[in-house]
Amino acid sequence: NNLSARDLAVIWHPYTQMQTAPAPIGIVRGAGALLFDEQDNAYIDATSSWWVNIHGHAHPHIAKQLAAQALELEHCIFAGYTHPPAVNLAERLLQLLGGQQGKVFYSDNGSTAVEVALKMALQYWDNKGMPRRNILAFKNAYHGDTFGAMSVSGRSVFTRVFDDLLFDVHFLDVPAPGNLDELIAHIKKIDPSTIAAFIFEPLLQGSGGMIMYDKTTFDKLLQYCAGEKILLIADEVMTGFGRTGPDFAMQQVSVEPDMICLSKGLTGGTMALGVTTSTNTIYEAFLSADKLKTLFHGHSFTANPLACTAALASLDLFLDPACKANRERINALHQSFLLTLQANPLVKNPRLLGTVLAFEIVTSHADGYTNSLADKVHAFFRERRLMLRPLGNTLYILPPYCITDEQLHTIYNAITTFLHTLS
Ligand code: PMP
Repeated sequence: NNLSARDLAVIWHPYTQMQTAPAPIGIVRGAGALLFDEQDNAYIDATSSWWVNIHGHAHPHIAKQLAAQALELEHCIFAGYTHPPAVNLAERLLQLLGGQQGKVFYSDNGSTAVEVALKMALQYWDNKGMPRRNILAFKNAYHGDTFGAMSVSGRSVFTRVFDDLLFDVHFLDVPAPGNLDELIAHIKKIDPSTIAAFIFEPLLQGSGGMIMYDKTTFDKLLQYCAGEKILLIADEVMTGFGRTGPDFAMQQVSVEPDMICLSKGLTGGTMALGVTTSTNTIYEAFLSADKLKTLFHGHSFTANPLACTAALASLDLFLDPACKANRERINALHQSFLLTLQANPLVKNPRLLGTVLAFEIVTSHADGYTNSLADKVHAFFRERRLMLRPLGNTLYILPPYCITDEQLHTIYNAITTFLHTLS
């Protein structure tokens, strides 16, 4: 019953075909911030299993709601029909997002939420009879791995083989102190009146290396784009649901987005679900007797009742004041570890936003990153049963909000010990 060996015989995993990659560890159950293997060894999930399990694993509240819904209605076509979980969730999400968001479109994951937003933005201008075809995104961004989402992501090892097939996108530098004029000059050169939309991860670029923007520059850049009527698509797939501090990262800037993409933490990591919200202004451009103005986009599993129920149960937990208190507790603990990191010469650019702590490991290699460093990081933390994955030479902690102080200290201590092994 060796899960790992059986797995290797039949499963193609993401990212790990390198023959040097270790065999996958079989995980059979989870509880809180812990995952357990077949021998019942506990692993600390320091990155919320690809940033989705905001409430930890196998939370009984979500599990109970899911079980009850499965006996009631598990799936139903969503063109011409509707059901309570979809409507309840849309109402609660729009209320939570506040501001201008008026409609919810359901899809299956973060990439599809991005695809939907891009199609809505491009067709919006078409429907208004003023086609705009250019799109802005940040260099180095990651918005998913479907073709549209890849097109608006920075060109990288993820897109390398397909670069010639991706559509053209104008990539801006990430907002840093003093680069606003440069960013605006870049947009002016493109001609803002031809730009349909700007898609961005607000304040924190996740897969790109946990890069944190200069907030003032970011805010002013968005103000400029809004002034030019460029539709603002906030990809809150990772930053949403409290990750950067407040409920949504966009609450930290003065500009309202036209569309918001959500996934990952939306269901507390229990079910795959994507959401794209839009303003009523955008929605109304698709309302017409002319059939060609409709959005011809739909997924078999759109608004799956189980996924919507999981999201509703996750929202219950998210809106409990204990969730916010936990995020503040983690932020405070991170802050003191940040001071330790700042004093370490092997650490470059330690940074913190909400519950995300990140830093670069200084290496002697010119490109700052080698497979051997990544392998070292993997091996070291695996041996200590800590689930940490580096992004290039960036190491980060992005824990479930229920992680205990003790578990966090175990992670901090392991990082300190790891840095020692490099010196
Ligand atoms: N947008 C962002 C900001 C992401 O971080 C990700 C996933 N890492 C995606 C979109 C794509 O989401 P998914 O993997 O669910 O397709």
